[in-house]
Amino acid sequence: MAGPSYDDRDGWIWMDGAFVPWRDAKLHVLTHAMHYASSVFEGERAYDGAIFESRAHSERLAASASALGFSLPVPIEDLCGIKAEVMNKNGLKDAYIRPVAWRGSEMMGVSAQNNTIHLAIAAWEWGAYYGDAKMKGARLDMSQWRRPAPDTIPCKAKAAGLYMICTLSKHRAETKGYSDSMMLDYRGYVAEATGANVFFVKDGVVHTPSPDCFLDGITRQTVIKLLTKKGVEVVERHIEPDEMESFEQCFLTGTAAEVTPVAEIGPYNFEVGALTRDISETYEAHVRQRPNN
Ligand code: PMP
Repeated sequence: MAGPSYDDRDGWIWMDGAFVPWRDAKLHVLTHAMHYASSVFEGERAYDGAIFESRAHSERLAASASALGFSLPVPIEDLCGIKAEVMNKNGLKDAYIRPVAWRGSEMMGVSAQNNTIHLAIAAWEWGAYYGDAKMKGARLDMSQWRRPAPDTIPCKAKAAGLYMICTLSKHRAETKGYSDSMMLDYRGYVAEATGANVFFVKDGVVHTPSPDCFLDGITRQTVIKLLTKKGVEVVERHIEPDEMESFEQCFLTGTAAEVTPVAEIGPYNFEVGALTRDISETYEAHVRQRPNN
């Protein structure tokens, strides 16, 4: 594990309207969110001092909150400014930004109608999510857990409750020596990794699962636009697991993962090929050129 524990660092965290010293950004143990997963969050990256797609992440945070039946205590218009302040206050240029909103502690039970909605924003320096996989390709296990159906949970929200099976999958993968895990959806189609979307390449065409029961990542949407602009055909469709046998290349996309090549998913192997390298480099250039939005 790199760096000191996340509760023991220098710096400032924005919490409910004020900057508090990093080590003092604490909650009570009877916080509803901790018992009933009533929290939503974002993961964003800043490059050269500018948060990539800041507005889109703020909108998604508000949409996730709405899916859980609450509103953010701060209007979307103000969120981008606060995130930029968090960056400045901590002297950061290249950073990971973590906004989180949650139900507080007034009521302790399944119902939490009148609980205060809290909002905190932290930011810190964070390198490559999959370590040296950017060069060699990540190795993924196959998860025993499936992404849930849209009528069983608000599956498009970036909400804490949806990550329980991700942590279980990732822990099992790491125990077996892999760096992540590929999850199928409730129908048995290929869905996504535990914190990133997946793309495959075959005969120069890119195939990616239709995001009908999981997060349509902001990186995913960006990469589809960049590929299309290059004239590469991108097909969004349902993908059967055994189709992975015939795919030549594979890569993951996500704010943390950026574009990370994949060398292996369970029994299936992929080459780290030219198209994957090219889109990875194009994405890197793209995120550094954007104005702060
Ligand atoms: N799926 C899951 C489960 C994730 O946690 C993430 C990371 N937010 C993604 C996909 C990718 O989303 P984005 O590109 O917006 O970071």
